[in-house]
Amino acid sequence: MGKTALIIVDVQGDFLPPDGSLMVPAGLLVAPTILDLLKDQKYNWDYVVVSQDYHPTGHISFASSHPGHKVFSDIELKDGRGILYEQKLWPDHCVQGTKGCEIAPELVAKLSKRGDTVKLVRKGWHKDVEAYSAFDGYMTDFNNPADPPTEIDYQPQRKIVQWLREQGVTKVVVTGLAAELCVSHTALSAVASRFQTAVLQPATRALEDRDAEEQWDKLCAVGARVIGRSNRPRTLRWEDELKQWLAAEDAGAWPDWKKKNGSA
Ligand SMILES: [Zn+2]
Repeated sequence: MGKTALIIVDVQGDFLPPDGSLMVPAGLLVAPTILDLLKDQKYNWDYVVVSQDYHPTGHISFASSHPGHKVFSDIELKDGRGILYEQKLWPDHCVQGTKGCEIAPELVAKLSKRGDTVKLVRKGWHKDVEAYSAFDGYMTDFNNPADPPTEIDYQPQRKIVQWLREQGVTKVVVTGLAAELCVSHTALSAVASRFQTAVLQPATRALEDRDAEEQWDKLCAVGARVIGRSNRPRTLRWEDELKQWLAAEDAGAWPDWKKKNGSA
């Protein structure tokens, strides 16, 4: 049986009411659910990965960095890697060293006791590169985080995926904020890296519920599971659905990867 990682995406001041600059309206409901998930013995997570949006001032995703363009408008940009993409412009948020960048203190208190089994991933740390997925950051020690790298990492996902595989992780459960952006992008990265992937809807909230539903459909279409999906008829409580999914036999692509690479 492979190991399991809980991924907690961006539960930070700026995404939370009442003061967050980019608040998810019902975001405060997420932390108590995640704290419950972390209760001793309840689900036995082998590892926890916590992501933190971690922008320098003047980040490429901020409307304030593009004079004449409005917050929430879309703009075509070329990023620091030379890649053309469409950016939705955000209010300034999660700026390194500010209160809005801090992870919810009740989560920090709980997670800091997990020693080496909890990792921090900081993303969007380079001024000219946007990142939504938790797999697109740099991984560091949760209790003693390292400064960001000095150079752009052109393949950030490789290191995180490799670390998870080395720990024997085959399943990931994604939670946090915001559902239709960083949570769903993280889950898509996990699927693409051939982890068995579930999103736990009761532990996430959206800026716009309709957009989240679209993302859940996409994720289901590529083989991920959305546990506790609110607008579907259900026969199980989400807690039982989660336990059942966690207990199911490994059936993902990762065992093939393991076989191909000759490691047991
Ligand atoms: Zn951001």
